[in-house]
Amino acid sequence: MKTKDPVCSFCGRRKSESLMLISGLEGHICDQCADQAQKIVEKELGMDDNTNGKDSGNSKFESTEEIGNKKLPKPAEIKEFLDQYVIGQDQAKKTLSVAVYNHYKRLNSKKNPNSSDVEIEKSNILMIGETGTGKTLMAKTLAKILDVPFCIADATVLTEAGYVGEDVESIISRLLQVANYKPEMAERGIIYLDEMDKIARKGDNASITRDVSGEGVQQGLLKILEGTVAHVAPEGGRKHPDQKYIKVDTTNILFICGGAFDGIEKMISRRVQKQAVGFKSSHNKETQEKKLLSLVAPVDLRSFGLIPELIGRLPILTALEPLDTDALKSILTEPKNALIKQYQHLFALDKISLQFDEAAIDYIAAIAFENKLGARGLRGICESILQDFMYEGPSSKTKSSVTITREIAEEKWNRADSQKYA
Ligand code: ADP
Repeated sequence: MKTKDPVCSFCGRRKSESLMLISGLEGHICDQCADQAQKIVEKELGMDDNTNGKDSGNSKFESTEEIGNKKLPKPAEIKEFLDQYVIGQDQAKKTLSVAVYNHYKRLNSKKNPNSSDVEIEKSNILMIGETGTGKTLMAKTLAKILDVPFCIADATVLTEAGYVGEDVESIISRLLQVANYKPEMAERGIIYLDEMDKIARKGDNASITRDVSGEGVQQGLLKILEGTVAHVAPEGGRKHPDQKYIKVDTTNILFICGGAFDGIEKMISRRVQKQAVGFKSSHNKETQEKKLLSLVAPVDLRSFGLIPELIGRLPILTALEPLDTDALKSILTEPKNALIKQYQHLFALDKISLQFDEAAIDYIAAIAFENKLGARGLRGICESILQDFMYEGPSSKTKSSVTITREIAEEKWNRADSQKYA
């Protein structure tokens, strides 16, 4: 239909009466009808199934829709990818690879109308391990391979007893932001919830000690883990009271939780010794502790002070091993973005080649291990060893290479400012 002053094929408004008239093959649509149409689409998708939002934008996460059976990497491929970034932690990597694969397979099967009636439930993950053993790194790397929105939050931000308000919204709001404000993308994302151990009820005996605030926070958390609809302010905040909140359903968001759970070994040990007399005598102290953590079971989390409902929502439990000197050495040199590689790159930008003797690497790893600084401390140690070189290097006209020997490392580390890391 062609007229001199075209009209909207939906509402009949003339071009002169609307801001914009978009022409199609056989008609036009005005800006207001287009806006309305978009709202209908969003509403329909929200009612239909929160995971099947089609996205026609050019978001970075467009491909998440494609985590179909073809593109979803197999567990072995996921682990291989993790291997490039995370040193050791083989068991945790395997557990996570399978869990994440199953999670997205489950989401895809939900989308398939021919899938059977068997409802596969979501399996959130809990990782237990000392600080600096790679929990966050693992979750981050997983999100990278899957190309889904990812954010890190802290369980301790949920502070009020039984109060699920702003705090929960703020976590979801961060994920939504990463998902370019596309709720259907955020709803397929991953949230890494750190410090899970800090919200445990205090006291060993959970049945007698009732720490209300800890329990309240856990109840609040339970809600988002189970699935709730969070109302999040749109990009830039709500500009006027009529502006709608964006609804984000957390039902299909995968929560990977982590915590150090300091002292849980004692609870595991008590339980294990009850079950198997002689466990203690057959291992030396260190392997014993390592082994103990890998034996962690839901009942130990209960003893630690997590409520059973919350434990039930975290069915996949895995432990990360403490890092020994060899692991710390590998962390320095092997991962794709290993610390030494990062510094070499930094120096190369000033046209200086940076080398480390093997003995210097041994020394750095040993310092981190002995001072119980873990992988997190490696950067601080490197920083203090390299500081003088980084200060002088850029202005030096003659220096084109730096080699860090053990002696240099030792000398720099022993300087006064190293004390702050010890
Ligand atoms: P956590 O969450 O367990 O406290 P992170 O994952 O934040 O620890 O680790 C802190 C830093 O230490 C990371 O950025 C990473 O560089 C390094 N790191 C820790 N563990 C490993 C590991 N297993 N492999 C490689 N790097 C690691």
